[in-house]
Amino acid sequence: MIALPAAPADLLRALQDSVDRTEHAATDACLQALLQHPGLPTHLQAQALAIASHGHYRRNDLTQASRLASEARAAADLAGDATATAHAGLAWARICWALGDLDEALAELKAVHRQSPAEPRLQLHLFNLLGLVHADLGQAEAAETYQRQALDSARRSGCVDLRLIALTNLAGRVLARGEAARTLHPDTAAAAWAELDRLAAEADALACAHDQELTLPHLLVALGASLVLRDRRDEALAVFARQARIAAAWPDRSSLPHAAGWLARLHAAAGDLAAARRAIDDGLAACAALGAKARAAALHEQACAIEEAGAHWREALQHHKRFHALREECAVDLAQRKAAALALRVELERARREALADALTGLGNRRYLDQRLAPWHAQARERGRPLPLALLDIDHFKQINDRHSHLVGDAVLRRLAQLLQAGARDADLCARFGGEEFVLAWPALDLPAARQVAERLRAQVAAEDWGVLASGLRVTVSVGLADLADHASAADGLAAADAALYAAKAAGRDCVRVATSD
Ligand code: GH3
Ligand code: MG
Ligand code: MG
Repeated sequence: MIALPAAPADLLRALQDSVDRTEHAATDACLQALLQHPGLPTHLQAQALAIASHGHYRRNDLTQASRLASEARAAADLAGDATATAHAGLAWARICWALGDLDEALAELKAVHRQSPAEPRLQLHLFNLLGLVHADLGQAEAAETYQRQALDSARRSGCVDLRLIALTNLAGRVLARGEAARTLHPDTAAAAWAELDRLAAEADALACAHDQELTLPHLLVALGASLVLRDRRDEALAVFARQARIAAAWPDRSSLPHAAGWLARLHAAAGDLAAARRAIDDGLAACAALGAKARAAALHEQACAIEEAGAHWREALQHHKRFHALREECAVDLAQRKAAALALRVELERARREALADALTGLGNRRYLDQRLAPWHAQARERGRPLPLALLDIDHFKQINDRHSHLVGDAVLRRLAQLLQAGARDADLCARFGGEEFVLAWPALDLPAARQVAERLRAQVAAEDWGVLASGLRVTVSVGLADLADHASAADGLAAADAALYAAKAAGRDCVRVATSD
């Protein structure tokens, strides 16, 4: 049993911690507790789903990670909250990146960047992902620049754990720079090694001062790798020994295969084939435990080259076959995950549309109306623009049901919805408010123009040949109009339109009345 805090904010923090520490059971428990929390606000739900998505990504479960990222996106849309949207965008960008959709990942990340999220952890993940995507695009310089920005923002935040993550990520990029320059540009490489040493020293001091040594393995791999590339064998061995010691006490073993690859390279260069083979075997065992097939394929490829260099053809062939098989498995896995992620998007898109649609008429429903009206209302007030809205109610609808049956009543609702929809432009809003009441809103019109449109629609309904639905059937509507921008809230504006509708009913129905502004 895991002891969990009760308050949503504390649970969210515990969820984040469990993801950082790759404590999967705790991640699952925190997410479940959050989702079952009565009255959890939608924006926190979105954040929780996005953070949990990262947790599943870290345990190589891309299917669940993409499901959670999609759900986070849907919840963030519903909440209309910037932080939740940024969390969800990052979660989705991570999935796109992992699926190899670099363009889509980049577009997602740019959208998050435009919102300039203030939360330090969000900033760190944003810059880090931007760095990773650019690295995969072969843009090493841009990749390093983003990791540098990540470190700047982590330093500004004053959070030790964020600084350690950023130092580690930047060290990885600096290592790549040094490795690329090593043979042709020794000065550039020397500058990279000097910087890597500085980053490692900063991280080491920080981790030791704050009892956070557990976060160091990946950074130690980068430092050890640079020592291998600098032919400083004994120091490299000491660094890897420390890295292995720390990693053994830490649930996140993802640094082990990386370390194994560098150790194998070190031993092979020194002609110690037995030690190189041991390192490869350790790395493969770690990959198997992690389910890290791509890493395992890379280790087999490396082992093949080592055996080949020693003229051990049989061993080389075995490694080559495993490399080849794993690489194919990875390609199939990736294709399947991508198909699953796309199918999920289709399903969620449909669910999202259905959640906002009225089943009988296909128009937007009350939730859709509320979602659209609030921002329109705020914008109209901000810009000093009108926002006319009509509440339209079928006259004596109860009698239509009673005289002609409910089925005919339903057909009237559907036909009226079609008429209203046909008369609306893309920018207009047309929704079923409930029962036999509809709402129209025209953000591009002023009140007199809206009144003309409402009057025309009313006349059109009265003139329609309703006899095709039931013999002798006649349908008219009454309309109440108000300018929402005249009112402090959208709800107040709707109430004013409702009062105008009541006035239209009182005036004998089949007519339009405008709210008297107060
Ligand atoms: P008024 O002119 O004052 O608006 O009278 P009314 O009869 O239209 O108003 P009232 O509110 O008395 O009745 C509305 C009726 O609409 C009652 C309800 O059964 C019917 N109604 C609500 N939703 C549906 C629906 O989805 N299908 C059908 N067939 N009827 C519905
Ligand atoms: Mg009514
Ligand atoms: Mg009515």
